[in-house]
Amino acid sequence: MTDCLFCKIVDKQIKADIVHEDERALAFRDIRPAAPTHVLVIPRQHITSIDEIGSEHEADVGYLLRIASQIAAREGLTGGYRTVFNCGPDAGQSVFHIHLHVLGGRAMGWPPFPR
Ligand code: AMP
Repeated sequence: MTDCLFCKIVDKQIKADIVHEDERALAFRDIRPAAPTHVLVIPRQHITSIDEIGSEHEADVGYLLRIASQIAAREGLTGGYRTVFNCGPDAGQSVFHIHLHVLGGRAMGWPPFPR
């Protein structure tokens, strides 16, 4: 995808603080962290949102969760962490390349509050 911010990060056209990279996925620190650790895990392949996950993407999307767990361990999130896929306007999705938020380093409330 030519006009996708996260595809540009994958292609190294835009810099990011990358904490993990392999042939399937990339993880980098969120530019506006909402917690002491806030990392976004994305597939290299462009998928717009969880609504666009096809059977051919299932393995790559599942893989994001494994990477999230590895990052949480590496970041020392022994107290736990939150993973989130925002999907669509009510959830506040702002970048339309699927990404898994990994948040930790502080206690978090539940449920999420209205804006
Ligand atoms: P969402 O609102 O779920 O679509 O999340 C998009 C996230 O991407 C937000 O938390 C932004 O702060 C983050 N973000 C936007 N641009 C960048 C960037 N260039 N590098 C890192 N994170 C970014």
